[in-house]
Amino acid sequence: HDLRNEDLKDLHELGQGNGGSVKKVEHTPTNTIMAKKIVLIDAKPSVRKQILRELQIMHDCNSQYIISFYGAFISDPNICMCIEFMDKGSLDGIYKKIGPIDIEVVGKVALAVLEGLTYLYDVHRIIHRDIKPSNILFNSKGQVKICDFGVSGELINSIADTFVGTSTYMSPERIQGAQYTVKSDVWSLGISLIELALGRFPFSDSASDDSDLSDFENTLSPSRPGNLDFTNNKTEKEKRDKKKKRKSMGVSLQGGGMTMSILELLQHIVNEPAPRLSPEGRFPRESEEFVDSCLLKDPDARQTPKDLLKHPWIEASRSNTIDLEIWASTF
Ligand code: ATP
Ligand code: MG
Repeated sequence: HDLRNEDLKDLHELGQGNGGSVKKVEHTPTNTIMAKKIVLIDAKPSVRKQILRELQIMHDCNSQYIISFYGAFISDPNICMCIEFMDKGSLDGIYKKIGPIDIEVVGKVALAVLEGLTYLYDVHRIIHRDIKPSNILFNSKGQVKICDFGVSGELINSIADTFVGTSTYMSPERIQGAQYTVKSDVWSLGISLIELALGRFPFSDSASDDSDLSDFENTLSPSRPGNLDFTNNKTEKEKRDKKKKRKSMGVSLQGGGMTMSILELLQHIVNEPAPRLSPEGRFPRESEEFVDSCLLKDPDARQTPKDLLKHPWIEASRSNTIDLEIWASTF
């Protein structure tokens, strides 16, 4: 029983990312609600078939911390993937709606993501490569699951050809061109956890300018770096327009009257101390310490997801009896 586009009834759009869009659909023969992700790629038919073959690995990814997979097909010229529908959406949407997320819930999220990453790597040798709040999904049963992991090497290549794919959740070693490892995902998790706990993306100078970063999109739009003009000899009006444009492109970071371009931000990640859960004392010491260990800039010093499952904050989160199903019913 292969999935066919004809059997899917569009209900409504769930969201849009840089590489495509996601729709809530009903698989009418089985009355199953699914999320259909349309991946815009510009690849030869042979490459698309190869991607489809590689995506089949997702059928074998069975874990309560990983989104389940119904199937994929080519819908010329795009690839469609049907995955489990998560009725509370992604964690970025949740904090943008309800504000900073309680640190005990953040602890449960950290535990789920580490479990998911450990499963993917230990069982399938898969590295996620795109951990961020929009790829951590939540449902009204209180389950937390990760999605959009790098199963298909061909798909990663095709998207890389089409999009810049520069993410501000990227670790310093990745920015500097090193190989991806499971530890790069740990960095991205650290950044994501701060974002959830503070209710805003961490790379900004909130003390001097708390301008709204909540709608900050974290990946550069479909454009090549060469298309961006970072020169500084502009009139005030040009600067304002540019700022607006950058903001809509999601590369504007403001703090202390400064606007950081994506390149400046990447430089900042490489050269400056990592962000922390702040202000000091607002969060439990063990949570601060956990985030600090995710955000060690030296990947050799950083632990793997599996090691971090033994961290005291994660062990405490595991035995925490907070009910995420009840929490989910509050929004
Ligand atoms: P990017 O393209 O930078 O990775 P993204 O993760 O937001 O950003 P998509 O993966 O296309 O982009 O997802 C778009 C939105 O659709 C997500 O932010 C999420 O809110 C929603 N979404 C994705 N998958 C599901 C799902 N299985 N169930 C419910 N909502 C989903
Ligand atoms: Mg996504």
